[in-house]
Amino acid sequence: MDNFIYQNPVRLIFGQGQVNEQLTSQLETYGRNVLLVYGGGSIKRNGLYDQVTDLLEKDGFNIYELAGVEPNPRLSTVHKGVDICKTEDIDVILAVGGGSVIDCTKAIAAGAKYHGDAWDLVTKKAVPEDALPFGTILTLAATGSEMNAGSVITNWETHEKYGWGSPHVFPKFSILDPANTLSVPEDHTVYGIVDMMSHVLEQYFHPQTNTPLQENMCEAVLKTVIEAGPELVKNLDDVKLRETILYSGTIALNGTLQMGVRGDWASHNIEHAVSAVYDIPHAGGLAILFPQWMRHHLDKGEDKLVRLAVNVWGIDPENKSGSQIAEEGIQRLEQFWTSLGAPNSLADYDIDASRIDEMADKAMANGPFGNFNALEKEDVEMILKASL
Ligand code: NAP
Ligand code: FE
Repeated sequence: MDNFIYQNPVRLIFGQGQVNEQLTSQLETYGRNVLLVYGGGSIKRNGLYDQVTDLLEKDGFNIYELAGVEPNPRLSTVHKGVDICKTEDIDVILAVGGGSVIDCTKAIAAGAKYHGDAWDLVTKKAVPEDALPFGTILTLAATGSEMNAGSVITNWETHEKYGWGSPHVFPKFSILDPANTLSVPEDHTVYGIVDMMSHVLEQYFHPQTNTPLQENMCEAVLKTVIEAGPELVKNLDDVKLRETILYSGTIALNGTLQMGVRGDWASHNIEHAVSAVYDIPHAGGLAILFPQWMRHHLDKGEDKLVRLAVNVWGIDPENKSGSQIAEEGIQRLEQFWTSLGAPNSLADYDIDASRIDEMADKAMANGPFGNFNALEKEDVEMILKASL
């Protein structure tokens, strides 16, 4: 494995009732002027908005609001948040929502301490040197953004979507109550399951050797989600299943699985290019692209694909070639995701071949990518064509 230094400073506060117990005491360390950031209204419908604002008002916080963060959060919304922080002298930001709200908050927090346009930080033209402190109340199990320092922002004017990160944008605290995820509808519950499994798989496909614990941990998370996920989709109001999936999503991308390895992340990069052009749900794109990325690697990645097929999907390897076992494993993954209701071709989003060149160019913006196996533009085009 590679040498590594690991430090994750996020205070993770997990379990039922923790918002009432912990929110105001966690926030007051940072000041009284709070910017509350949320999405399109789910927290108003499920009562969380009232709960949070009541708690803050009772303890005398000054509440400012930024509502309407889009799924696939946009730079224009980041700009609005930065303006509020600068004009209202905001001390601390509270993100209440899914990964989009948290990612947007990260860009606002860093943008508020940067003299130029926050887009410079996303495009890596500038490196964040500071950020406003922020906490999160997570409402959707998916991205791991609640316990990592990554963020994905879309510039809808230029149709660019990039991931960026900085040690300055780890949340100070994140409150995860599985009850706050009970109202997530079936489609987004499924997308969350696909996203967290994809995060594990991106890290499973790494080029490092002698990493037995890393592989075993990835397989344990995958098997847990494969067992609990379908049960949850049938029983959306089961708080125990919500709890298992919520914790899985955090572990999938809080750095635990990444120690000593460099994950691939090519499927995420291609997905960002697709949703920059078509604004489709992140995990909908991953469910389509990831199996095709795997097929594209049948030659170079056969050993890892065979291991995944046997250890995670329980495929009997007897009397089969490596490529047969690997292909069976890929098919099982596809069947698993489609059985939950995820899409499996770009046509499911009415995407045809007409803009493949544009998407491939966007994916190539920073040159060849993928740590397990670097992709050139023609590889990306092949994966996109196979996904049609
Ligand atoms: P999301 O975009 O935050 O939310 C998806 C939808 O779910 C929204 O319409 C939201 O509605 C709704 N929702 C959220 N919580 C709900 C609840 N408790 N009840 C009912 N509806 C609820 O989804 P996400 O998958 O968490 O985030 C996706 C974004 O994260 C993408 O931009 C993706 O690229 C990025 N991402 C980030 C990372 C990272 O490490 N930072 C990793 C992977 C992906 P409202 O808007 O009304 O709340
Ligand atoms: Fe993701």
